[in-house]
Amino acid sequence: MDCIFCKIVRNEIPAELLFENENIMAFRDINPLAPVHILIIPKKHIPNVDQLETYDLPLVTEMVSVAQKLARQNSIQESGYRIFINCGPDADQQVPHLHLHLTGGGNLGSPC
Ligand code: 5GP
Ligand code: ZN
Repeated sequence: MDCIFCKIVRNEIPAELLFENENIMAFRDINPLAPVHILIIPKKHIPNVDQLETYDLPLVTEMVSVAQKLARQNSIQESGYRIFINCGPDADQQVPHLHLHLTGGGNLGSPC
């Protein structure tokens, strides 16, 4: 599939990988918005939250669990962090493969 995150899953383009298991990958965002900016994705191609089926909801639980683990690994569990998912044009979703952002390591301001 011609999807940039599927290409990362297939090791066709490089990424700074921080976590991988059979379902999930996590890697640093190429254009970080904060000192820590990690993307957590399902290996399965799911375009966005709107197209998430009930049977794939456990993947989201696993993605949040990986975010918690990576926040601790990056020592931002006490200073705090944000996890968010963009869906569709008004949220400026740029990559049509479900991904959870984990940002932290500095004051993140208020979300809109
Ligand atoms: P979105 O706007 O879709 O929620 O976020 C997409 C994110 O993916 C952006 O923060 C962008 O910097 C990041 N990104 C886009 N292409 C690549 C890439 O090839 N590698 C990595 N590591 N991040 C990417
Ligand atoms: Zn994909």
